[in-house]
Amino acid sequence: MHVAVVGSGYVGLVAGACLADLGHEVILVDNDPHKLKALKNGQTPIHENFLPELLSRHRGHRLNFSDDLHEAVRASSAIFIAVGTPPTDRGDADLSYVESVAREISSAISEYKIVVEKSTVPVYTSEWVRRIILRNGADPECFDVASNPEFLREGTAVTDFLYPDRIVVGCDTDRAAQVLRKIYEPLTSGSYYVQAGAIPQPDRTSIPAPIIVTTTKSAELIKHASNAFLAMKISFINAVATVCESVGADVNQVCHGIGTDNRIGPRFLNPGIGYGGSCFPKDVMAFRSVARECGYDFRLLDEVMRINEDQRDRFLRKVRSALWTLRGKRLGVLGLAFKGGTDDIRESPAILIVQALLQEGCKITAYDPAAMERTQEVMSSNLKYANSAYEAAAGSDALLILTEWEEFANLDLDRLHGDLKYPIIIDGRNLYDPEVMAASGFTYYSVGRAASHPDGVPTGALKNGNGVKKA
Ligand code: NAD
Repeated sequence: MHVAVVGSGYVGLVAGACLADLGHEVILVDNDPHKLKALKNGQTPIHENFLPELLSRHRGHRLNFSDDLHEAVRASSAIFIAVGTPPTDRGDADLSYVESVAREISSAISEYKIVVEKSTVPVYTSEWVRRIILRNGADPECFDVASNPEFLREGTAVTDFLYPDRIVVGCDTDRAAQVLRKIYEPLTSGSYYVQAGAIPQPDRTSIPAPIIVTTTKSAELIKHASNAFLAMKISFINAVATVCESVGADVNQVCHGIGTDNRIGPRFLNPGIGYGGSCFPKDVMAFRSVARECGYDFRLLDEVMRINEDQRDRFLRKVRSALWTLRGKRLGVLGLAFKGGTDDIRESPAILIVQALLQEGCKITAYDPAAMERTQEVMSSNLKYANSAYEAAAGSDALLILTEWEEFANLDLDRLHGDLKYPIIIDGRNLYDPEVMAASGFTYYSVGRAASHPDGVPTGALKNGNGVKKA
């Protein structure tokens, strides 16, 4: 099928490349000339596994890049809108980019097409998109608006798209549903998975992908409710971690104990420094705001957000309690991205913590396998960058782990011990076993577990124990 994807960011670029891999003819449209130039020149503007491979496979054949939205719409039967929906100051979603695309495409609709919301949008957006397209002169018989929310996670975006838990399509006409069924047929029939060169199947996925057809309003709500639920799961386990710290329990053991209950499941029970990224923070706020407009006071979501913010403050308090004063202290920081596997730093809790520590006068050297370039674009020049985890640690008063990159969970502990000025690690992602760290000579702080010390004695403790509180 001929398909246009408007917006070639984290979602649009991955969706476009994957739709081309499913056999469709895709035009990716963006209004950012730098991004388009990079894409046309063979660059991959975001860090995502398998994406460079798919782009080089289809670029110039089944996947083309353009700034001509009108022409792309004219040539396509389905137009996916994947532009940003950032939060406004009031917390609701800014839909001006979606509206601008809807306005622009109406004059190019001369035969039947479906306009598909791929961006995360509040309920009722499809009705507005339809209204805007009609207001700008399109024939009501010539188009349907559908919702096809995207559930991909940055870091595993390509495999999430191709091996989804489910595909949700919200359509109010059979005709629109048929078009979307046809687009996803290679995944729902399983024909994609046996084709030569298919991206390999990740663990814990089942094929073929089920498709769930709903009304457009239900599909819009499914996306907001899913993200709000996942954010709630993170805040829940972070609150449990706080209780664990107060009573001397181990949150990892608690997670194992509750996560093995099938009704709960182990995923997203990872205590840490809170959720971030371009989706959860804004989507929880937007869902809260939508509910309020509909007359429901969704206070549970306020608490989800409050716990999330507290989690960062708690981590900062932990750094203070480990180091006493902060002004002039040298800190090594591992991780800037909001999660492992991506270069995305939008609403990254790691960045927020680094900014707070810089403000308190710390000298920070950070390392991230993918996100340093993006960080350099937005952070003050006070922050120094290293070429490896060991370089970030070298000569530091303590090492902070802020992103769960796999390579940070497999460090050479002897080398790290030698590189640090004081062997103190404050781990916001629980990547290590406290006992192993103590046995390796570290004072180790994590989330929801008691701090561990070599020989049970805090590093740098005064001989009589004054002034140093054992956590
Ligand atoms: P992004 O900011 O990375 O990309 C948006 C792109 O749209 C940019 O390249 C921008 O230049 C382009 N754009 C804006 N206005 C345009 C216009 N009028 N014409 C053409 N191009 C235009 O955003 P993203 O992270 O890809 O997110 C897009 C949407 O998908 C959001 O609603 C987001 O909530 C949702 N979503 C994101 C993720 C994720 O992990 N990032 C996952 C699921 C859903």
